[in-house]
Amino acid sequence: MVDNPKQSDCSTFCPLPWNSINIRNNGDIRICCNANSYTANRGIVRHDDGTPYNASRDNLQDSRNSELSRDVRATMLRGEWHPECERCRQEEKTGVLSRRQMEYNDWDLTPETAEELTQEDGTINTEDFNLEFFDIRYGNFCNLKCRMCGPTDSHTWFDDFVKLNGQTHYKDTHERIQLTKNAKGRWETDQYDCLKAVTCTGPILRNTQRMLKNFILWVANHLLLKNMLTVWKDLYIMAVQLICRLSTTQT
Ligand code: SF4
Repeated sequence: MVDNPKQSDCSTFCPLPWNSINIRNNGDIRICCNANSYTANRGIVRHDDGTPYNASRDNLQDSRNSELSRDVRATMLRGEWHPECERCRQEEKTGVLSRRQMEYNDWDLTPETAEELTQEDGTINTEDFNLEFFDIRYGNFCNLKCRMCGPTDSHTWFDDFVKLNGQTHYKDTHERIQLTKNAKGRWETDQYDCLKAVTCTGPILRNTQRMLKNFILWVANHLLLKNMLTVWKDLYIMAVQLICRLSTTQT
């Protein structure tokens, strides 16, 4: 239990560090997609040696007690804003409904319950908090190249990226991305293998055995790949109630 004078202050509390797993399209695990733009770390949760937790090789439950995950929870329970949550802080400061506020309204988890079951340093027993929400991105295979997007989220951005930057490589959170020209003269890479969806499926399903309702799979920005439908079918069989929030380009 967190011992602090602001224990009933819920103005910075967000359920996501307790009940969700968020997977970037390179498999790296992050606090949430809103924690993507304001720090150099981009919300990525890491092992002690600095290596990102990645859904293709790491246990998702272990990632929930990464140093950053603990720090974000402890910070919230002190009634403070964590630097990784700067976007939500700014949205609320300017009167915009933040994702934190939306998630706070959407889920049953209260600051009191979180506080009761969370250690002072932010550590949780993962058995105490069901995983209820997954945000999963399956590679960067997309047939649009929206203005606010980029090569990390859409492979059709590659040609414009090279034209705009005059370079054929960039750094993503998992590794340095090297683009090469294919036979059709288009830039490509296999470093966002959409088959990662298959690799991710095993850990995800293993971690949802106890989660029987209100499971939300949020698949953003990408085509309805056959692999995604397979995952949904498996989850549907397991879930009493499956709520699926689908964010897609519908193309
Ligand atoms: S407060 Fe905002 S940035 Fe932080 S975990 Fe919640 S939704 Fe993400």
